[in-house]
Amino acid sequence: MQGKLVLGNWKMNGRHAANLALLQAMLADEDINRAGVGIAAPYPYLAQLGAVFAGSQLAVAAQDVSRYAADGAFTGEVSAAMLSDIGCRYVLIGHSERRQYFAEDDACLRLKLQAAVAAGLVPVYCVGETLEERESGRFAEVVGEQLKALDAIAGQGYVVAYEPVWAIGTGRVASIEQIDEAHQLILGRVLQCHGASASIRVLYGGSVKADNADAILSLASVGGALVGGASLEVKGFGKICQSA
Ligand code: PEP
Repeated sequence: MQGKLVLGNWKMNGRHAANLALLQAMLADEDINRAGVGIAAPYPYLAQLGAVFAGSQLAVAAQDVSRYAADGAFTGEVSAAMLSDIGCRYVLIGHSERRQYFAEDDACLRLKLQAAVAAGLVPVYCVGETLEERESGRFAEVVGEQLKALDAIAGQGYVVAYEPVWAIGTGRVASIEQIDEAHQLILGRVLQCHGASASIRVLYGGSVKADNADAILSLASVGGALVGGASLEVKGFGKICQSA
């Protein structure tokens, strides 16, 4: 049985000097500095993470990846091969902010998933419903549709993150019952389609903080956490890692 995985998502935050202080404090924290913990940073800082984490078990993760080729005429893009080359282990794919602000759809996400696994990265595929979709009773349908993109990488290693959009950055966390229901649904779908749910971790993301981490991470269906705001400071993030 795999241990739980805690990934911090810094989103579009950070500057070199402040990152250095934060990363060094993370390295010095024994709850954070261990296998099964990683940070997803903006592209310009991934090499900095790699340098600070060198020799530790902490993982470097990217927040996005190009859907196109490993190299070539795609100005502004960053390929999975490049992320792999600089030591990334994980890459977030389909975060709700990318779906919402950058119109990433199923076809785009399938290509990104394929590009990631082809380069040896572990995709962390994010799914989750909006408040309107939950309130209109369409949560299972929406998440089920989003999960179909995983067919593109059937049989390969990946992680799923269930992140209800209404809980991301809002302080409004899903209830333990809602989280367990969603995770059971996702694990069931993955088993049905890929026959491998035992080895697939489903992380929960959405306002995970020091004070709710124990309850969320003690659920057997929760394989870890994807942590946004709380990964920008050591104390709370350390407590979340300890709960895992
Ligand atoms: C996220 O960005 O994936 C996230 C879950 O953010 P927060 O923890 O701040 O809700």
